[in-house]
Amino acid sequence: MWRYEALLPVEQPTGVAQAAGRTPLIRSHALDDAAGCRVYVKDESENPTGAYKDRGSAVAVPHAIETGTDVIGTISYGNMAVSTAAHATSLGRACIVLVPDEIPSARLELIAQYEPTIVQVSGDYGALYADGIALSESLPISVLVSDAPARISGYKTVVFEIYESLAPDTPDAIVLPTSSGGFASGVWRGLRDLETLGLLEEPPRLYLVQTATADPITQAFETGATEPTALSPDETGETIAHSIGNPDPPSGTRALAAVRETDGAVVSVSDAEIQSAQRRFAVDGGFCVEPAAATPLAGLTRLSERGEVASDESAVVVPTGTGFKELGTGNESVDTEQTSRTELPELLDAVLAAH
Ligand SMILES: *Cc1c(COP(=O)(O)O)cnc(C)c1O
Repeated sequence: MWRYEALLPVEQPTGVAQAAGRTPLIRSHALDDAAGCRVYVKDESENPTGAYKDRGSAVAVPHAIETGTDVIGTISYGNMAVSTAAHATSLGRACIVLVPDEIPSARLELIAQYEPTIVQVSGDYGALYADGIALSESLPISVLVSDAPARISGYKTVVFEIYESLAPDTPDAIVLPTSSGGFASGVWRGLRDLETLGLLEEPPRLYLVQTATADPITQAFETGATEPTALSPDETGETIAHSIGNPDPPSGTRALAAVRETDGAVVSVSDAEIQSAQRRFAVDGGFCVEPAAATPLAGLTRLSERGEVASDESAVVVPTGTGFKELGTGNESVDTEQTSRTELPELLDAVLAAH
């Protein structure tokens, strides 16, 4: 991603930040049927910690250090925590990660491998977002949450890469999962940068996909509101797509504006649709993605069914995070019924008989 250094607020840092971005864009014919159009996969699972968050951490962590902070903090027990901890330690900085006290051990292990200071917080974890910002203002700690401006500027590099990979073609649509709206804001920023540079004739339609169990941005889109309304705890449900589902998205207003300006839409998908898309990614496409990262394909299926995306159009789906972190946690949706045990001689007989 440092190919675009001139358009970023920091110079290329040393360390793991150099491994961020430059992910492949793959034309995946095998996913066309499921999606209902021509599919390109921008495989963000190939980032150093397995999620697009690295594009943001690669910029936001050195940016915080430049402004004089020695300690990096974050409030997350998912991909944000893993990525922030990796980038902080890579630049020799201490990192504080605030996690809920009921964190599953597999997630704790993923974060702890970088040896940040992990603080388990009891009580209302959702309220920590505001507390974290306050912490950032009163202590020499930079708390890098989802809408930190330097993080969002790192995210925009994904757009530059998509356009360079496809040139001279351009995509008709870009489809992303959305939670806080940070990634969507970054993608929109990237499109506007291309426009300013005279490199974008017609922007792609931006489609955002939320989990139906927590979808304030979809609800605002459908009612024509310019700002999402925060959902109360009883309006928010459980989902297998644990990386998305923010009841009060800090960058929701910007995400909505991006969708409307590009003639896109916001759609919500159920856990059943997410699970089915995750299988299609693996079984048809050969991609291992986490449930949240499968939502763009689920959303695209819906959009095609609704006639919003035509079969001859091209859509870039962005699986935002790898599914490999889920394996072994008991959360993965793998159909182990298909495995069968057999003795080698029997197997050989069966193979020979089949020929
Ligand atoms: C963080 C995350 C998202 C959501 O991104 P936002 O910037 O919060 O909208 C989507 N998918 C994965 C895998 C994530 O880790």
